[in-house]
Amino acid sequence: MFKRLRRNFQLSIITLMGIIGVLGITPYAIYRLLSGNYLVGIADSVIVLSTLAAVLYAWRTGNTEKPGIYLAAVFSVGATLIAINLGVNGLFWIYPLILFNFFMVSPGKAIVASLSVLAALVAHALLVPGTVFESHYQMVSFLVTNAMAGVLTFIFAYRTRTQRDQLQILAIQDPLTGARNRRAMNEELKIAVSGKRRRDRHYGVLAMDLDHFKQINDRFGHHAGDQVLVDFVDLIRANSREEDRLFRFGGEEFLLLLPDCDAEGLQAAASHLLQAVRDGLRGPGGTVTVSIGGALLQRDESWTQWLQRADQCLYQAKSDGRDRIVIEDNRVGQTLSTL
Ligand code: GH3
Ligand code: MG
Ligand code: MG
Repeated sequence: MFKRLRRNFQLSIITLMGIIGVLGITPYAIYRLLSGNYLVGIADSVIVLSTLAAVLYAWRTGNTEKPGIYLAAVFSVGATLIAINLGVNGLFWIYPLILFNFFMVSPGKAIVASLSVLAALVAHALLVPGTVFESHYQMVSFLVTNAMAGVLTFIFAYRTRTQRDQLQILAIQDPLTGARNRRAMNEELKIAVSGKRRRDRHYGVLAMDLDHFKQINDRFGHHAGDQVLVDFVDLIRANSREEDRLFRFGGEEFLLLLPDCDAEGLQAAASHLLQAVRDGLRGPGGTVTVSIGGALLQRDESWTQWLQRADQCLYQAKSDGRDRIVIEDNRVGQTLSTL
């Protein structure tokens, strides 16, 4: 449980807000109901119960986006009703509400929610003079301080989100080629294994290793070698399906993960890539070729076993003379080799 909280920030913030919301608002709900202010009492109670429901939903489904939007909406409407009803004493709640919304939903949605609350309060105050604010001066002060809180929070939330997205990309990407890195590969292969177990989805992998790559470095320098790696990745991307995932898992070793792929599909994809590299990959010394080993994921096999089988096929392709494909055919328990 604590592990889940530590790993999932959004879940932990929804849970924390849930606890604070329930503990902080329940006494008010009881007090308002007992003292006969039913509108505010019911609004408080709805907020408390919705919070509990949203937290439970987030824990059970792992989906934190919907409960976030739901909580932001319920708290915004609730706080607006309370401020209209209580006047200045209720207005204090609008400040934490602004922060709360930015924690719950994306910065764009949060600013829309906060502006809607302010618009509703001002509209009510103008339509029914004497409610919500005690004077125009107070209303203007309230709007200005709220706008400041909103803008500053927006900048902060926006910057945090952009940095988080950048970090996420950096964490899974190989900086040279832009292919996914080994860490991402391990994760995706694990997901494939569970997809096979739970829904019998079919997956194939192609392990690819450039032929005589060391010679390019030795003869033309490391920089020329780097350029060949970049060109190789562009070529594979252009010649594979949108849903296929390309990983760089060693110096000049790559892995292509192909979802929803059978034996024929894997063979066809490998042949297409082999030919595309022959036709399209040029180093400073001329044509560069690749050797490919492929394997389909079997039921109840671990991702390391699967990878190892593909790697053995690749090894076979290398020792058979390079620039070729070796694919393990599960149905006949043999390897198929194609030039
Ligand atoms: P084979 O056909 O058997 O695969 O031969 P090879 O020369 O391609 O294989 P080997 O594993 O002997 O050499 C791989 C070379 O890749 C050695 C290493 O210097 C080079 N290498 C690894 N990472 C990078 C990189 O990021 N940039 C460059 N330019 N070279 C790299
Ligand atoms: Mg090589
Ligand atoms: Mg190698």
